[in-house]
Amino acid sequence: MKQNRGFLNIKRRNRVMLAVSVLLILSFIPLVISWRSSSLQRLSFSAPEASYNNWDDILLHPKPITLQTYSTGKMQTPLSAIMNLKHEQAQAIEDELVEFPVIVTVIQHEALGAYLIDAGLDASYTHNPYGSLEGLLVKRMSGKGSQEPNTHIAATLDKENIQIQGVWLTHLHPDHTAGILDLPKDIPYVMGKGERYPNFKFLIHGDHLAGIDELYEIDFAEGIDLPPFGKSIDVFGDGSLWAISSSGHSKGHVLYFINGIEEQILVTGDACNTLYQFDSGIGPGYYSSDLEQAQAELDRIIAFKEHYPEIKLVFGHDLQKGGNTM
Ligand SMILES: [Zn+2]
Repeated sequence: MKQNRGFLNIKRRNRVMLAVSVLLILSFIPLVISWRSSSLQRLSFSAPEASYNNWDDILLHPKPITLQTYSTGKMQTPLSAIMNLKHEQAQAIEDELVEFPVIVTVIQHEALGAYLIDAGLDASYTHNPYGSLEGLLVKRMSGKGSQEPNTHIAATLDKENIQIQGVWLTHLHPDHTAGILDLPKDIPYVMGKGERYPNFKFLIHGDHLAGIDELYEIDFAEGIDLPPFGKSIDVFGDGSLWAISSSGHSKGHVLYFINGIEEQILVTGDACNTLYQFDSGIGPGYYSSDLEQAQAELDRIIAFKEHYPEIKLVFGHDLQKGGNTM
């Protein structure tokens, strides 16, 4: 009997071991998937010393830098994805499918050349509503996109005969990275530190960063405080272009401020998707990684604009701009 019980114990132990091994293997699969998605090398962007340390000084010293915005197509998403309909001001707003342009900004610095802010939709959206996205979850997780022929950003740059020197990314959501597929790879691509790239093999992936050897990350800990915003970096060291930490819509989301002589403009990315979002004060929706922080960031953008009404705003998904004179 004793021997038998011992034998049974061994059998039970083997079964437990087997169950534990299966569990371990299963829990490793998502790890492997996420590791594959984030294994692109990340280097730190070496930020120059800031030329000014407060908004009044920055705004008093505009630089020869200009900005142009383009729509690279449209995305259809539920309104609740981009607006938090649980907000107290949103009680009367019904959720529905809505369509928004996907904006790319081209900046031209007189001495340093042209750069992009974000890359928009790639050329595949002319014939495929999911563009280059593939995987089991694409239809469930991604909105449908559309694009007129030759309006992806690489075609626009060709048409306008603009050669870009690099790309500043507000964040790495697919409607902001897809256009990279059509762009040169031997230029720097820069984003906020800690920004995750949601590219999951088998589940949902567009491999928009394929061919890029490394991404540059801005470490805002090296920046200066520019209230009402937090840490900010003087990207070129001459006060012309500022990157502003704005975690909320995504972990490493970045706002960009263009301090031009003709116009001074805040590019909000998806921290503020539309003029309506700005006017209503209703923060970003469930596409955001942290709704509370995303709301706080929108509140800061509104406070900034109230304090400096002459500053204009370019939103992530609206061809209308914010500002009295636009
Ligand atoms: Zn986004």
